[in-house]
Amino acid sequence: MILLDGKTTSQQIKEEIKETVSKMKSHGEKVPHLAAVLVGNDGASLTYVGSKVRSCEYVGFDSTLIRLDENISEEALLEQIDTLNKDNALDGYIVQLPLPKHINEEKILLAIDPKKDVDGFHPANFGRMALELDAFIPATPYGIMQLLERYNVPTSGKHCVVVGRSHIVGRPISILMSQKGAAGNATVTVAHSRTENLADLTRQADIIVMALGIPEYLTADMVKEGAAIIDVGITRVEDDKHPKGYVIKGDVAYDEVAQKASYITPVPGGVGPMTIAMLLKNTLLARQWNK
Ligand code: NDP
Repeated sequence: MILLDGKTTSQQIKEEIKETVSKMKSHGEKVPHLAAVLVGNDGASLTYVGSKVRSCEYVGFDSTLIRLDENISEEALLEQIDTLNKDNALDGYIVQLPLPKHINEEKILLAIDPKKDVDGFHPANFGRMALELDAFIPATPYGIMQLLERYNVPTSGKHCVVVGRSHIVGRPISILMSQKGAAGNATVTVAHSRTENLADLTRQADIIVMALGIPEYLTADMVKEGAAIIDVGITRVEDDKHPKGYVIKGDVAYDEVAQKASYITPVPGGVGPMTIAMLLKNTLLARQWNK
């Protein structure tokens, strides 16, 4: 069994980006600039945005954190988005989700200039991705593709079952893995909460991508010998024995499934760390496309 180590791979990608940025600097070129918009004080969002900003600093990008009050009106936030769209110093920006309930997330995401949408959530980017045109690919599926490619996991002609059809993980990864090219050419089945006899499908799969958010849902009896397993799930599960009072669980019963798998991502340390690295990669692409 080969561990698909997202921690090491994401660090490698960051080093590659750092080197490119240092070359840009030595040629007197402008370095990529990412801004992050954070509305309110949600603890998890603060942690995510904080690590995105720190990663920018690590690779040599310019970064700007824009913190806005929890009670900001939708109109005022749209004005802020308009300012960011017009700011030529910025290559890309993200609006950290979730937004407070009084703000329509869809309206905000649609207002982002697709050329600066490094999260890849705008329909223009999703459409371009589906049509195999240059696009910002959402960071989590992009990270999965990088793991498969860098570890040479065989995908061509293989049957991949994706469990989950969300707009940010399940749906895009199912499109990417069925496309021509590296880590693609798979025959993809997309499963969801209405799927009947899920275990019959997963038992036929050469590759399983679990993106549903139910801890340890995929058990060894649902997996064929030698399958490659990608676990996207991240759920906090209460655990009194742990100093933090919780542990992070994936969607895969890791210990038993790892016994049968040919490749497997751990949680934590698998898909999770790849996400920030791919956001940086998208920001670098934004700078290169802006030139
Ligand atoms: P969503 O809740 O948006 O989607 C979950 C999907 O799973 C839905 O399509 C749902 O089906 C399907 N589903 C739910 N229950 C079942 C079931 N019993 N059998 C089959 N399918 C089911 O989640 P996300 O895609 O946003 O996230 C999924 C997980 O990945 C979460 O744990 C999240 O925290 C994690 N995540 C991790 C990231 C990372 O960086 N590693 C990034 C993003 C997410 P239906 O459509 O019918 O409702």
